[in-house]
Amino acid sequence: MAENENKFTFENEEYRRTYWHTCSHVLAQAVKRLYPEVKLAIGPSIDNGFYYDMDSPFPFTPEIMEKIEAEMRKICKEKLKLERFELPREEAIRFMEEREEPYKVELINDLPDDVPISFYRQGEFTDLCAGPHLDSTGRIKGNAIKLTACNAAYWRGDSNRQTLQRIYGIAFPKKEELDAYLERIEEAKRRDHRKLGRELGLFAFRDEAPGFPFYLPKGMVLRNTLIDYWRRVHKKWDYVEIMTPQIMKRSLWETSGHWDHYKDNMYTTVIDGEDFAIKPMNCPGTILVYDLEPHSYKDLPMRCAELGIVHRHELSGALHGMFRVRCFTQDDAHILLAKEQITDEVVRIVKLFDEVYSVFGLPYTIELSTMPEDHIGTVEDWDIATNALANALTSIGKTYVINPGDGAFYGPKLDFHIEDSLGRTWQCGTIQLDYQLPGRFNLEYVGADGEKHCPVMIHRGVFGSI
Ligand SMILES: [Zn+2]
Ligand SMILES: [Zn+2]
Repeated sequence: MAENENKFTFENEEYRRTYWHTCSHVLAQAVKRLYPEVKLAIGPSIDNGFYYDMDSPFPFTPEIMEKIEAEMRKICKEKLKLERFELPREEAIRFMEEREEPYKVELINDLPDDVPISFYRQGEFTDLCAGPHLDSTGRIKGNAIKLTACNAAYWRGDSNRQTLQRIYGIAFPKKEELDAYLERIEEAKRRDHRKLGRELGLFAFRDEAPGFPFYLPKGMVLRNTLIDYWRRVHKKWDYVEIMTPQIMKRSLWETSGHWDHYKDNMYTTVIDGEDFAIKPMNCPGTILVYDLEPHSYKDLPMRCAELGIVHRHELSGALHGMFRVRCFTQDDAHILLAKEQITDEVVRIVKLFDEVYSVFGLPYTIELSTMPEDHIGTVEDWDIATNALANALTSIGKTYVINPGDGAFYGPKLDFHIEDSLGRTWQCGTIQLDYQLPGRFNLEYVGADGEKHCPVMIHRGVFGSI
């Protein structure tokens, strides 16, 4: 009984999603009433509200968004029934062609044969949609709808295709709930790290270098304080510090696999007629350091820490202050060790993490990510590695949740999540086991048995980045 009653309240996620999705239809209807020339793409619900992507010859300014909101309120008052109907493929295409909606035609063309092509009609407006929806626009509280933002978005997320405008909105069954939500958003804006960074004189961004931060004098004081602390901790835990080159030859990145699997995220250049890449990760550099000399089992684990400046190409639309940049300093470390040392070493790393996070007063939760579908290495190796991580955690009384199939393609990993002042969680530290990279570079050590063995590599960062 209780469950049934719950089903049609806003606390029920499915109902909330349906409510918001119906709002996106109302948004599309309002836009088409006011600006019939605008073409519609897609309009789903999201975790926090809804959006609709549209192809418009003019930008949706705040004034226009207000007009659209007013029209949405009218549509809610009109209490239009939502009626579902299906059409055979040819008729469905003709239906959308007549309405000059090329994006909808493309969507219909891409629908698999066995899926019914359904439409929802509300008043004079009809949208292609699988549903479900509320049964009437009258169920939506018109004065508790707010269009919150408008951003650029690529059609089908493809940067080679049309740039559309995405109108975001939020809605609640009560005006007070909307007001409380908007107040929370305002609070987030007041705490926006980009604004604070500038006001406190910590860092800045300029159009001349999108995604590449400028550290200001006070920011450098903070940064250097973090780095001094980082050096003290790592010295205490028996790490050595190295620094490897920013730019290295293509052949290195081919051996490491980055040239094949990560090239789109790498900046490249040509020196003396040869291809080079700016490092997106520090691991291959560390491997070249290991490979300078022969090693015996007595040298292991070899713990190399590096404050590695890495460059990664991110699409301009994905950039977001310090949260998503194209250049950052990883507080990286790579540990080369024998398989049988993994559990002890992971325990040691977790203790180091504990020490650091307790200094900052940051509670954390741990996720263990297991073998993804697309992986290299044998299932046996994966099992051994995953168990080693799990055993290390349980041996020191740490709890964790399993994130199935979310490991890196070369090995399982532990991610440490921390919470910010607005209750959002962020992945901070990571410990990744890697059975593959040392093998790609034919790394060796001489074991106690006098035979040559390939070491395992652990990638780990405790801050994540400076
Ligand atoms: Zn729909
Ligand atoms: Zn690495």
